[in-house]
Amino acid sequence: MESKENLVYRLGSGCELSDIVIGEIYEAKVQGFAKFGTFVYLNSHIKGLIHISNVKSEHVEGDKILVLVRNIRDNGNIDLEEIIIRDYEVNSVMCKKSQTRLGDLKNKVGYNVSLDVEIAQIKQTSGPTIFTMIDETGKENGAAFIEAGKRAYPEVELGDIVHVSGEVMMRNDQLQVEISYMEVLPEEEKQQVLKRIEKALDDRAYPEDLPFMIESEVLEKLKPAMKEVAFIIRKAVFTNQPIILRHHADADGIVAAVSVEKAITSLIREEGGDPDTESHLFKRAPSKAPFYEIEDVTRDLDYALKDNVKYGQKMPIILMMDNGSTEEDEPSYRMAKVYDLTILVVDHHHPDESTDEFLSAHVNPYHVGGDFGVTAGMLGAELARMIFPPVEKYIRHFPAVAAVGDRSEAPEREKYLRLVEDEYSEENCKDIALALDYEQFWLRFNDGREIVKDILNLKNDHVRHKKLVSLLVTEANAAIEEQLQTSMPHVERSVLENDSLLFTIDVEIYAHRFTFPPPGKTSGEIHDILCKENEGKPVVTLGIGPDFAVIRSRGVLMNIPLMVRELREEIIGGGVNGGGHLVVGSIKFVEGMRDTVISGLIEKIGKFPIE
Ligand code: MN
Repeated sequence: MESKENLVYRLGSGCELSDIVIGEIYEAKVQGFAKFGTFVYLNSHIKGLIHISNVKSEHVEGDKILVLVRNIRDNGNIDLEEIIIRDYEVNSVMCKKSQTRLGDLKNKVGYNVSLDVEIAQIKQTSGPTIFTMIDETGKENGAAFIEAGKRAYPEVELGDIVHVSGEVMMRNDQLQVEISYMEVLPEEEKQQVLKRIEKALDDRAYPEDLPFMIESEVLEKLKPAMKEVAFIIRKAVFTNQPIILRHHADADGIVAAVSVEKAITSLIREEGGDPDTESHLFKRAPSKAPFYEIEDVTRDLDYALKDNVKYGQKMPIILMMDNGSTEEDEPSYRMAKVYDLTILVVDHHHPDESTDEFLSAHVNPYHVGGDFGVTAGMLGAELARMIFPPVEKYIRHFPAVAAVGDRSEAPEREKYLRLVEDEYSEENCKDIALALDYEQFWLRFNDGREIVKDILNLKNDHVRHKKLVSLLVTEANAAIEEQLQTSMPHVERSVLENDSLLFTIDVEIYAHRFTFPPPGKTSGEIHDILCKENEGKPVVTLGIGPDFAVIRSRGVLMNIPLMVRELREEIIGGGVNGGGHLVVGSIKFVEGMRDTVISGLIEKIGKFPIE
């Protein structure tokens, strides 16, 4: 049988001595020379000797040759003979049974194990090099030491698939493999292992199919997109990929982000992560502007790149919440794409189609016939349940807070309020939303993680929650009252072409600056009073600053992003930009063109139909 004679075996890196068959031919790699013969490797760690009498040709180190196994002695020494054949067929021997999975390490303390894993982080300590290893069953650390503070296995890089052997130990109550051998797998084996790990990880990362907390047609239609986001986030947690959560710095945005923060940090803990792991793998940061500013992306990239060098971390995923779906985000996305970052968006602002080319997943009620009434906080809480279902009991009241915070008028508002009415009245929810807005103003760019948890009653300390919210609400209301008493006498009234009432207030000179409430909130409060005073009539309120205007409206079918775009084209040198929701938003311009831009804006508002 010709073919049988020409069969040659390639020993996989997981194979041990007992997997070698005497009388068969194997591929081998020349390792070194001695007086009495040539040493060769049969795989990554099994070595044999070709006695000088059995060497048939001349070699240099690293040469690939064929050897016949003549004998395996009791002491483990392997006697080989060099074989020279021109045509042969290679058969790979994959020794799977000797492989341990990371999820099984706890049962192997004190034993030597052999693992095929992906390297998810490489951290150099002042002692050993710590390799974070992942496979389809879990995540564990391995320590390799050559010299204090010196990088072990410098050829192994982040994301490599490697074969590792070593002893399983307990160190500070944590499992750790003391790595005695590590090798990057050759392409063929790598693909097999990668396929196995990926497939199993994908299955694990796929979110459970849970019903939403309320009935909602819009949410049902958004389910596939939400699952996609949940899947990418869960997989990031399983594969040690950091996540940066950027969000709008208002009550709705905070609620959305804190829901997801709670889910992600809980999942990290469940996966065995400690507080240190948590702070490396997850960051939440509010954005002052209602979009992803260059300043924000620059900061995020700066940290990510430093962590990549310093802690051998993967580059992060960017998750945008209550932000991120408009053209204004694109310059920052372009920047993030230089580093191939994955960007996810969960937003309820009117989306620009062009933005989608930067996004791996995008949840937005406008995609399915809904509108901003399904707020980011509602989406965030439901998404959090997909990421980590047990989170629900902590965040059930979040969507109701978001609903009143963002003044949703969608049917979802009432449903979420009813869901928690036994514990939180509508008034309670409004107080929490106001407390969040007030506190975030003073937190500025900080996430205020623990204070925000108390405001949202996420810590189960009801007494402190109540005390804090009531104090913040009192302070906020006093500040609003003071602002209104100062500003209201300066409001100017006119009637527009479409019969809507226009009220303007110069928030630069007739309002306190650099304090709460900021211009947007001040304009909103003034608008609310004017709406009440003019029941049933269409009302537009403009809060005008030196280089910006805040727009609030009721009963006028306007489109702020569209007006901004038109003004930008029509007013040369106006430097117009901005946006927001269709009927609530803001516009920026250069100070010297203020009068031109404002009169252009008012003219456009007067042309929209009224309800
Ligand atoms: Mn919002």
